[in-house]
Amino acid sequence: MILKMLLRLLGIYKDADRATSDQTCAARGMGNVVGNDLGNDLGKLMRIYIEPTVDRDKVLRALRIVPGFWKFAVREWDELKFEELGGEWKGFILPLGDNEIAIFDGAIRKVKYAGGTAGRRVGVAVFGWENELMLGLRIWHELLHTEGLDADGLLTNKSFTRWLPERIHGFFKESVSEHSWFWQIAYYTYLTDVRLMRK
Ligand SMILES: [Zn+2]
Repeated sequence: MILKMLLRLLGIYKDADRATSDQTCAARGMGNVVGNDLGNDLGKLMRIYIEPTVDRDKVLRALRIVPGFWKFAVREWDELKFEELGGEWKGFILPLGDNEIAIFDGAIRKVKYAGGTAGRRVGVAVFGWENELMLGLRIWHELLHTEGLDADGLLTNKSFTRWLPERIHGFFKESVSEHSWFWQIAYYTYLTDVRLMRK
């Protein structure tokens, strides 16, 4: 419940309260760019493949964490549409097509990395112990990479610090860590906003 409230405050939890975040965007002169669940076609469409051994319902719920700048069309899992990487990335699956996401079983495939991109191709591993928020943040993170955004820069991106209201700079310094969900949500929201401002 507290988590949902937090996500709503940050304007990324999509449900009946969604109007709040859309009003924020309208106030910035961005219209309904974020709100593609309101029926416009401005969201970026990604084809998504979910490996059958992965908890599909959990993945679908996790996708609701990702802002409406992206939208998803779920397609049937088809091994012919992917490549399997080697070396340090052994077992990692990437789709062959641009603007595609393969959500694969990281436990069965015993991969080292949870997410990766090559250009506009995205692979995301699911190990089974994640909750929807972790999974949603993982997918969102990789999508930010596909837009050329500094998704790994939570601790180093000075523009993000400037974007934060000054009164929480102290809280940021005290509490930020690479694995903090709270700060990941704030940082990814910032990067998505940067992307929305780029025309
Ligand atoms: Zn990254």
